[in-house]
Amino acid sequence: MLEYLTKQDPEIAQFIKGELQRQRNNIELIPSENFVSVPVLEALGSIMTNKYSEGYSGKRYYGGQEWVDQIETMAIERAKELFNAEHVNVQPLSGAPANLAVYAALLEPGDTVLGMDLSHGGHLTHGHPVTFMAKIFNFVRYKTGEDGLIDFDNLRAMALEHKPKLIVAGFSAYSRDLDYTKFKEIADEVGALTMADIAHIAGLIAAGELNNPVPIFDVVSTTTHKTLRGPRGGMIMCKKEHAKAIDKAVFPGLQGGPHDHQIAALAVALGEAMKPEFKEYAKQVKVNAKVLCDELKAGGLKVMFGEITENHLILADVTPLGITGKIAQTVLDEVRITLNMNTIPDDPRKPMDPSGIRLGTPPVTTRGMKEPEMKQIAAMILKALKNHENEAIKQEIAKEVVELTNKFPLYPEFE
Ligand SMILES: *Cc1c(COP(=O)(O)O)cnc(C)c1O
Repeated sequence: MLEYLTKQDPEIAQFIKGELQRQRNNIELIPSENFVSVPVLEALGSIMTNKYSEGYSGKRYYGGQEWVDQIETMAIERAKELFNAEHVNVQPLSGAPANLAVYAALLEPGDTVLGMDLSHGGHLTHGHPVTFMAKIFNFVRYKTGEDGLIDFDNLRAMALEHKPKLIVAGFSAYSRDLDYTKFKEIADEVGALTMADIAHIAGLIAAGELNNPVPIFDVVSTTTHKTLRGPRGGMIMCKKEHAKAIDKAVFPGLQGGPHDHQIAALAVALGEAMKPEFKEYAKQVKVNAKVLCDELKAGGLKVMFGEITENHLILADVTPLGITGKIAQTVLDEVRITLNMNTIPDDPRKPMDPSGIRLGTPPVTTRGMKEPEMKQIAAMILKALKNHENEAIKQEIAKEVVELTNKFPLYPEFE
């Protein structure tokens, strides 16, 4: 691996090789991460990065587009088929720029948007006050109710009160599937447009393992590097009536030239997502999450959102064990288990030291791990958290992690 880079720039080569070893010898549980295939990496690291191609297939501002056009068109066609979409734009550079493009396409400055509260599972780009978007648009936020589910009575009341131009469904920490028809009914009642942000769950939707908002909603944005297991990037799917506005908002509204190497890699990943193996993968992601969830719950963590998961992730309060999310993340880092601290709904603690942890199964499932490994991982997590001041026990767990990961080789193609 990295034959030419090692010769020319050994320092950078060494850092990349160090990261490869980290990925190999750690249990990766960050639910927004994944391990792409070697063919995806090949396309991403290809000479497609050399090309400029502002515009869209058949309508570019530069010459020499005969191959770029074919690649972008194929990515679009594959996405349309996978998600049952009328129109697709594959040029957004990532998830946040994709969301900004949707707002730019559908809204005027000052318009009101109703989105999910961050601490209740929503995303920063859905109007958190720290974002620039929150200065441009008027965001109001709905929450989950006592039972941990999205409170649709409250959502409807807020929609009637604030008359939003856009209602956003989507999340990065909510462990339940969404009933998109309920959002759509409320949106229709108040004359709002509908946007779903499926960044986390696109792969599970493509595989038919979760409800698909694309045929129901006006616009659906996503990242391409989470459960979809493609290169880092963004994608927007929409109804034909919004196609022009979306395309114009992406380019020239917000972006310059598309990242053609990334779009080539996305086309490859979408091709993979059409295969039966990917359906099996998505199914296993859910099964693994359920096992992990049940075991952690039995071990004393308080699982949010009705104490179950219907997708790939789990948000759990660790304070019943007498620790905070920050301590949990640090201790688990020490034993080579990677996840992130996270606020829980209406968290009394601060984001830099919250009450919870968020974890998920897409990366470990890509490595081939199944139910027995999930039980083993849950046991290691609980043991580490309950013995967070015991160095000997933590060292033992770190050793067990390396033994387990060695049984599921990652990128054996790279020596
Ligand atoms: C990850 C995520 C994003 C942002 O994606 P980036 O590629 O990090 O910009 C947007 N929305 C949701 C719901 C996400 O989970």
